[in-house]
Amino acid sequence: MNIHEYQAKELFKEFGVAIPAGCVAKSANEFDAAVASLGGDVIVVKSQIHAGGRGKGVFADGFQGGVKLVKRDEAPSIAAKMLGNTLITKQTGPAGKTVGAILFTEANDIQKEYYLSILMDRASGKVAIVASLAGGMDIEKVAEETPDQILTMLIDPDIGLQSFQVRKLGFFLGFGAKELMKQWTSIIKGLYRLFWEKDCSMVEVNPLILTVSGKIMALDAKVSFDDNALFRHPEIEALRDLHEEDPKETEAGKYGLNYIALDGNIACMVNGAGLAMSTMDIIKFFGGNPANFLDVGGGANEEAITQAFNILLKDKNVKGILVNIFGGIMRCDVIAAGVIAAVKNVGLTLPLVVRLEGTNVEKGRQMLADSGIKLTTADSLADAAEKIVKIVAAENK
Ligand code: GDP
Ligand code: MG
Repeated sequence: MNIHEYQAKELFKEFGVAIPAGCVAKSANEFDAAVASLGGDVIVVKSQIHAGGRGKGVFADGFQGGVKLVKRDEAPSIAAKMLGNTLITKQTGPAGKTVGAILFTEANDIQKEYYLSILMDRASGKVAIVASLAGGMDIEKVAEETPDQILTMLIDPDIGLQSFQVRKLGFFLGFGAKELMKQWTSIIKGLYRLFWEKDCSMVEVNPLILTVSGKIMALDAKVSFDDNALFRHPEIEALRDLHEEDPKETEAGKYGLNYIALDGNIACMVNGAGLAMSTMDIIKFFGGNPANFLDVGGGANEEAITQAFNILLKDKNVKGILVNIFGGIMRCDVIAAGVIAAVKNVGLTLPLVVRLEGTNVEKGRQMLADSGIKLTTADSLADAAEKIVKIVAAENK
């Protein structure tokens, strides 16, 4: 789960990480008061969306820049151009994202920009802190072109962040002077504690800045959380912004279904993430395009399968459905009963190809054949994919 910059900065504050003074506004009539609460002649007006690259982004109506430094009396009118508008950045895709809130901050004179992130390193099973002298830039590009600008420090999660590691990172970034090291220590310790205590999957600060007056602070903030740990953080769950999520994905989550919407027209219903991936691959192999990833899980019952059909059918691009279920722990006859009931419940009219394999497969196939439902059965994964691709292509010529 992702949150907005203004929410991430509130967490930073709670964990003692320095940030510029700021105030968020969710409607235009709050703009004047928000700006009035801040000092300085220049105000930074920041569109809040779940994507980076806002500074260089462009709005759907041609207005340039989702983050702007402006004179304080212009800030409300600039914010009015952003709020409700659709911002397109390198990270949003061509559809862009609607701006639902504006963060106003005091502007700081930047002496130097840095990049900082904390994330899980799966290869080592440790927490990685990535620090770079090239702030405000794409970290992937820096890693490729100037890797000497990056220091990655692996933290043993059982021991936690050690003082020597804090100092080593600090010296690398040029914070060797006593006063800077003191600020750096409280920032990195605060960020690490946030990462650890809130079960984050990533904390990213791009840029971290050193101001002309010698203050280190987080100018931008991106925090994402491990969905599997959200149950123990209701205060984080409360930060969820459903406008930023695909409603079909949110609905699927309620029923324990793992659904991700894609651009194609062949909906897939599969049990197991690996099998779901292979199903998408093989649809592509036969020239089709999957409309989604859907893992109904190992314990899919009739209700879960019915809900899954409902969610798949909300996607108006869908022209056919491929059900590919392997009955391992689950028996194929139970799954067949689920598919039959679900198809009847939702009144399915689209072409449907079903491939069942595993325990009690003969009984399951017989039940499908006897059900009177219009469907095509398949003997193998390849057979199933080829059939649904052909049917969909033939019906949509
Ligand atoms: P992003 O483009 O979505 O990553 O948004 P950021 O919050 O990183 O802001 C984009 C850029 O605006 C930053 O990289 C800075 O260069 C600039 N910026 C933001 N706040 C300030 C500020 O207080 N002072 C100055 N000089 N530049 C700022
Ligand atoms: Mg940024």
